[in-house]
Amino acid sequence: MEEMRLAAMAHYANMSDKKQKEAMKFFNSIEKSGDGAVSTKEFLDFIRKKGFEIELPQNVFKLLDENNNGTLSFEECVTFFYMIKYKKFAFCKGCGIYLSGIRFVCVKCYKADKEKTYDLCCSCYRNKNHSHAHTKFLDNDALHRQKRAKLGKTLNVAFKVLGATATIHGLML
Ligand SMILES: [Zn+2]
Ligand SMILES: [Zn+2]
Repeated sequence: MEEMRLAAMAHYANMSDKKQKEAMKFFNSIEKSGDGAVSTKEFLDFIRKKGFEIELPQNVFKLLDENNNGTLSFEECVTFFYMIKYKKFAFCKGCGIYLSGIRFVCVKCYKADKEKTYDLCCSCYRNKNHSHAHTKFLDNDALHRQKRAKLGKTLNVAFKVLGATATIHGLML
């Protein structure tokens, strides 16, 4: 989670005053009691109300609570804000760990909706620690490379067509 926290902080530092105020507003919408810290209950109420429950693992509060004091400070919520804003819900569906690097992604789910992928960590994929209906998985890197290769092929065909048209034009002129 450290990587994500650093990215969130860097992003926050470069936000406009208006956007930073938005982040503060977001924090206040979770922190109802006014004591300046988000309790587990306030956090759970929020994610239930917003429907994030399905996408977040049960230990997400613990992951966000960097200093393990049982509440989330504004800084700790900045990471949460960042995750929600950029849909960085990359958690292993098998064991719930946060996936910062390589992961295995269900190809069928990825093709259906890139925002709602079914991801597994390497060890859960290897040990078949999941009960997903689809069986074809690719690591995220291979998946992106495949996408780029496909795009390259489409462009190649387009260039060939353009080239042919240019030749015909050349003959006609
Ligand atoms: Zn796992
Ligand atoms: Zn799937």
